Amino acid sequence: RDSPVEDDGCSSVRVAVRARPLVEKEIVEKCMECVSYSQDGKQVALGKDRRFTFDHVFGPAVSQEDVYNECVKPLVESCCSGYNATVLAYGQTGSGKTFTMGCGNNVSLLEEELGILPRAIRQLFETVEERSNQAEFLIKCAFVEIYNEDIKDLLHPDTPSKSISIREDANGNIILAGVKEEVVTDFESMIRFLQHGSVFRTTGSTLMNQHSSRSHAIFTIIVEQRSILECANISEVITAKFHLVDLAGSERAKRTGAVGMRFKESVTINCGLLALGNVISALGDEQKRCQHVPYRESKLTRMLQDSLGGNSRTCMIACISTADTNFEETLNSLKYANRAR
Ligand code: ADP
Ligand code: MG
Repeated sequence: RDSPVEDDGCSSVRVAVRARPLVEKEIVEKCMECVSYSQDGKQVALGKDRRFTFDHVFGPAVSQEDVYNECVKPLVESCCSGYNATVLAYGQTGSGKTFTMGCGNNVSLLEEELGILPRAIRQLFETVEERSNQAEFLIKCAFVEIYNEDIKDLLHPDTPSKSISIREDANGNIILAGVKEEVVTDFESMIRFLQHGSVFRTTGSTLMNQHSSRSHAIFTIIVEQRSILECANISEVITAKFHLVDLAGSERAKRTGAVGMRFKESVTINCGLLALGNVISALGDEQKRCQHVPYRESKLTRMLQDSLGGNSRTCMIACISTADTNFEETLNSLKYANRAR
């Protein structure tokens, strides 16, 4: 990539790949690992000859903490300085998206097993605490799911999807009208909201596995701050949003077996991931970035419009399986992520 924006070490879109170790079932089935990694942590090879380069490549032994520090810590910092940020976990079902993002259900996990979400929330409140003599902070959160191009408010499940719409204000800020944000004052209460939403997400549907693998879950942290330093303009409120996204499974809809309503579902979700790929790819291409970035192709990209590109920072983590039985899907994921770079 030769655009100067991409080369300065803090380009607006970074792409990481994270490979998970073989799971129990794959070991029992005698699967082989078919992914290898270069020493510098930037290249991954699938089989013998398919090599790809990314901003970061994390092998199966890399800890949750290291993934967090490389990919997300700088985003939380920039969010606390007033810039929007987005982190997205991409990959086929079972590749480690939810493990990587973490959710409210795993706060009982060991420290080293905590995923991105609880770590980001913790860092945020630490920063608020540290800066309490410089600024007044108001922290809010929202949690939505996009399923079949319908937006569901996971913190207020009684809100009908029909009453939720995506709007843009005069300054280009995206607003989710109809979604209620919750004010939060500490780590524990934000984790509780995350838990409530996650529980609803997995139990609110009878076909729960299919549902959660076909929907995008977006947890949004809103950071408002007003400087209280004497030199500052007291009335100015700076707002930044941080979206943490557990994307729908990237596996291709199998046309056999996918009929009627089910088929419509899979097609629609592919459209969200397709649009995201197009948007991120356009953002990485200097010429396209100036002309047209196709945010309006899906609810997902429309909702993230003010937090992808521009002054905001984005990290996409493509999760892959190392098992040879997943070779084709892993190749698809690496190609998708490579295009995003
Ligand atoms: P997805 O959300 O993409 O469908 P999951 O996060 O549920 O996938 O992961 C599938 C399985 O693999 C889970 O049992 C999870 O604990 C395990 N797993 C995923 N990533 C890792 C990892 N980096 N290290 C250890 N186990 C992992
Ligand atoms: Mg998952």
